[in-house]
Amino acid sequence: MIVEKYTTEKRNNKQVQILADFVVVGGGLSGVCAAITAARKGTKTVLVQDRPVLGGNASSEIRLWALGATSHMGNNNRWSREGGVIDEIMVENLYRNKEGNPVIFDTVLLEKVKNEENITLLLNTAVSSIEKADSRKIKSVYAFNSQNSIDYTISAPLFCDASGDGIVAFQAGASFRIGAESKDEFNESFAPDEAYGQLLGHSMFFYTKELDHPVKYVAPSYALKDISQIPRHKIIRKDMTGCNFWWFEYGGRLDTIHETEEIKWELSKVIFGVWDYIKNSGKFEDVENLTLEWVGNVPGKRESRRFEGLYMMKQQDVIKQHCFDDAVAFGGWALDLHPADGIYSTHSGCTQWHAKGVYDIPYRCFVSKDIDNLFLAGRIISASHVAFGSTRVMVTCGFGAQAVGMAASICTEEKMLPAHILENGNIKKLQNETESGRTKYFKYAHRLILQFNQPRPCISYFKPSIIRNTCQCGMAQTRCISSSVATSKC
Ligand SMILES: Cc1cc2nc3c(=O)[nH]c(=O)nc-3n(C[C@H](O)[C@H](O)[C@H](O)COP(=O)(O)OP(=O)(O)OC[C@H]3O[C@@H](n4cnc5c(N)ncnc54)[C@H](O)[C@@H]3O)c2cc1C
Repeated sequence: MIVEKYTTEKRNNKQVQILADFVVVGGGLSGVCAAITAARKGTKTVLVQDRPVLGGNASSEIRLWALGATSHMGNNNRWSREGGVIDEIMVENLYRNKEGNPVIFDTVLLEKVKNEENITLLLNTAVSSIEKADSRKIKSVYAFNSQNSIDYTISAPLFCDASGDGIVAFQAGASFRIGAESKDEFNESFAPDEAYGQLLGHSMFFYTKELDHPVKYVAPSYALKDISQIPRHKIIRKDMTGCNFWWFEYGGRLDTIHETEEIKWELSKVIFGVWDYIKNSGKFEDVENLTLEWVGNVPGKRESRRFEGLYMMKQQDVIKQHCFDDAVAFGGWALDLHPADGIYSTHSGCTQWHAKGVYDIPYRCFVSKDIDNLFLAGRIISASHVAFGSTRVMVTCGFGAQAVGMAASICTEEKMLPAHILENGNIKKLQNETESGRTKYFKYAHRLILQFNQPRPCISYFKPSIIRNTCQCGMAQTRCISSSVATSKC
């Protein structure tokens, strides 16, 4: 039995100090891939994730499809394939989970991380602040686990911010951008204007199921009442579910970090209002037995801060497929921008421009230009708003993060900082190491296939530069992308 007497002094939580080689903050696919890659090279790694499962936007809490350079098999890159850890994860998931159950995907990720003896995994643990060693270096991050009431101090020579909003890089003082660059800054013709909007919003999903008896539905009082506020409401079908509603997007005109709770409320309002419309408007047949099975409570975040690295990817790097001497990853998703008004916009849900093939992502995009011991991974890497429209998809994020993990292991071995990888031929060492992780192999295999064995004709082979695909229907991205290269239907 424990009895503690009243004390006039404030009590403190239990304190735990951890010293590691490499600290990865954020357990989305980027953080997972960075941590596993580093750990397999013997680097003592701590992976800090604020939620109970891994996977970020691909986790069972949010339920997005993880996609990469194939762009859903809808463009020229349909044979491209990211290698290494992300490939292992996707293949294992396909083997165990061909139905795409997000709960099984959680277990695939948790198992992969738990199998690594060099990873200390801290779930339910949110990094809330940092301490700097000097003006250009991070010393420690501070985190709190609300489940076990422990305050952690985690120190290391190297850090990777894979947190999505970039809490570590922000607090460390690194330069960042939010919103779109003007067309003039980098001569990017696709840079959106204010009317289209300059920031992508959040989304939440819902799943439904059919029972063997009628189920009534009474919407909460906060549900959207007037469905005509959604200009594209006529495309809503009763059998739509989950990612079909990727265009239930909101917040592109708000502060997508500090107003996330307000954005989430608006998305809840939309979801329950749309379900009320499906169940009770009388416009849908055979919906009596349908019920809500799951509704998201954590919004999927698309865009907030992008941090400045030693190089910033731009539109031209993607569409002209520039080759970089320090290339360590590649992407292939469309330049995929969305109207900031999201679900309330009269524009189509997205505008996608496909390049003719995969493009390089240089190592410098993953290295903070201001904080010497900080790597960037995921959607916060150094890219313009337009280039981010492509680099942001999860398999591309995870693939790039593998190079970060490998670089962290080289830096640990050689007692170097991330930028030193660019000196004295070290970049070749990193490229060779990632190659042995099968990353390059797939890229070049892909290019050979394009060269010698052209697949069925697709428009972009015959167009000089790039296709503009404006999705008119708000349907799943798969169809929209396919339609741009194969048919005119959406
Ligand atoms: C609705 C929607 C549709 C999309 N469609 C697709 C798609 O079809 N396919 C695709 O591949 N991509 C898609 N994307 C883009 C993609 O999901 C994101 O760009 C990608 O998840 C970014 O990866 P990340 O690792 O940077 O961030 P995340 O996946 O968000 O992971 C970041 C992780 O960090 C954790 N974290 C945050 N703060 C802290 C903290 N303080 N301490 C500890 N942990 C923290 C979070 O819990 C999260 O797990 C979509 C995005 C949205 C929102």
